Amino acid sequence: MCSIIGYSGKKDAAPILVRSLEKMEYRGYDSVGLAIKNDSLINVKKDIGKVSEVKHSLNLDKMPGKIGIGHTRWATHGEVSKKNAHPHYSNSGNIAIAHNGIIENFQQLKNELELDGFKFESDTDTEVLVNLIQKNFDETANIKETISKTISKLQGHYTFVVIFEDGTLAAARFHEPLIIGVEKNSYYISSDVLGFIEKTDDAIYIDNENFVIINDHNLDIFDFKGNSIKPNITKVSKEFADVYKGDYAHFTLKEISEQPKTVLQAGNDTQIKEISEMISKAQDLYITGSGTSYNAARISKFLFSNFAKVKIEPIISSELPFSPDSIEENSTLMTISQSGESADVLDAVRIAKESNSKILSIINHPNSSLSQESDLVINLNCGPEIGVAATKSFTSQLVILYKITNKMCNECMNLDLDKASQSISTILKDDSKIKKLANDFKEISDIYVLGRGIHFPIAKEAALKLKELTYIHAEAIPAGELKHGPLALMDSNVYVIIINPNDSTYQDTLNSANEIKTRGAKIIGVSNQNNEVYDFWIEIPVIDETLYPLIEIVPIQLLAYYAALAKNTDPDYPRNLAKSVTVE
Ligand code: GLU
Repeated sequence: MCSIIGYSGKKDAAPILVRSLEKMEYRGYDSVGLAIKNDSLINVKKDIGKVSEVKHSLNLDKMPGKIGIGHTRWATHGEVSKKNAHPHYSNSGNIAIAHNGIIENFQQLKNELELDGFKFESDTDTEVLVNLIQKNFDETANIKETISKTISKLQGHYTFVVIFEDGTLAAARFHEPLIIGVEKNSYYISSDVLGFIEKTDDAIYIDNENFVIINDHNLDIFDFKGNSIKPNITKVSKEFADVYKGDYAHFTLKEISEQPKTVLQAGNDTQIKEISEMISKAQDLYITGSGTSYNAARISKFLFSNFAKVKIEPIISSELPFSPDSIEENSTLMTISQSGESADVLDAVRIAKESNSKILSIINHPNSSLSQESDLVINLNCGPEIGVAATKSFTSQLVILYKITNKMCNECMNLDLDKASQSISTILKDDSKIKKLANDFKEISDIYVLGRGIHFPIAKEAALKLKELTYIHAEAIPAGELKHGPLALMDSNVYVIIINPNDSTYQDTLNSANEIKTRGAKIIGVSNQNNEVYDFWIEIPVIDETLYPLIEIVPIQLLAYYAALAKNTDPDYPRNLAKSVTVE
């Protein structure tokens, strides 16, 4: 969700900043801008649109200067417009800022600044922040004191990077990511490793409640109390550089296609053993996540209970603060998050920690904020996921939950992941029928997805993929609930996907399909077995029945992807959505 970037070094800043913003595009944004210091002036150029469009229309990458900051905005305060795009100048024009997140008390700060004579051109909380910085700088003439004084006044979650007239860059982190890329005589200040990985794999992960000042090629780090912090340079995994689409038309298709490999890479044995032991000892066990990760969390309830006789309570992260099942003292909270930066998940963790809970996390980004907050972390190891709609990270999350379950029940499952991987390859190999079916989705406005038992969370995930990628109204229904309301919706304009592998749910779900069919709806069966009730059969290979949830989502990911193409929507960057939802 939006990105900040800063560069201070020997090369021209603008092309570097533009390239960084392009690499971080997947995070989601609506407008773009740069502020570059040239001689003693800070120049700002910004507009709404894609990085490539604004680069072209404003010649962004031709701006002169060796020090600068850049931003892609995901509007929270004020409409999507040029005047609200970042960077924002302070009133003097001597300072400019790019900011990620929300300043909750911006209105009060704005009122105070207005009394001091400050004027505002935009509707953003960000412009308030940069003028507060200016006010403090006018008073102290010292950048460290300015930043300390400013952050002591702020409420909310934020990361910001500021450029001062003398070429100093300062950046502060409060519950939003901030990473410094370190190259000889140059620094990159970034929301994401992808912002600098093409240039350097030396990185400093800035801790929460720390700020940095970069001046004359010196880097200083401080905590929010002003104490000096020793920089700790780590090597960032080179795999993050591997974020090219290769021969694929879209990242989403590439990531769907990587699953035969990624399901074999999730978690390592030591992590699985450790986490299983901690779960077995847990008194009260909860699991939380948002979106796709929450759908995976729901699967854990079936697996843990059926095979390991362990009770676990899934809670949507954004609902956890309001949940009646408040986290008991000394509980264990499992969390699932692809990015490890999801604000709702981090907030849930904060609440659980207040009750002294242990935090066990399943994450794709091992150096994320969530990792830092966790007692134990298991890595998805599925490589960067750029497509906004989660695909390979979901199946990797499931694999980890399967592995934990199997460990807890002393290997009682027939967990043949090689077979699962081959089955996914088989599904991917011949997608011609799915492509053809996807064409029909051009015309339809409602899809329902039915599943029972463990297949219901998969139906939820399927509906989510269809919504995200095709913008068609898609809704998951527990198959047994049809008669209690949803049957009223069924007519000849409706498509219904039935998730129905041949396991204990098979016959009941088939009965539901027949009930729908008599109302005229079109039935798409996802099953290892054909049946005359299906207007379209999406075949999945036969596998041990415990593993069907892992493979049955794959054809629906493909269907959603091809339907997006048929509808001419961008599957990698669906409208209004961001990859990493770092604001609540
Ligand atoms: N709150 C700021 C705005 O609305 C920053 C949003 C962002 O994170 O991009 O402009």
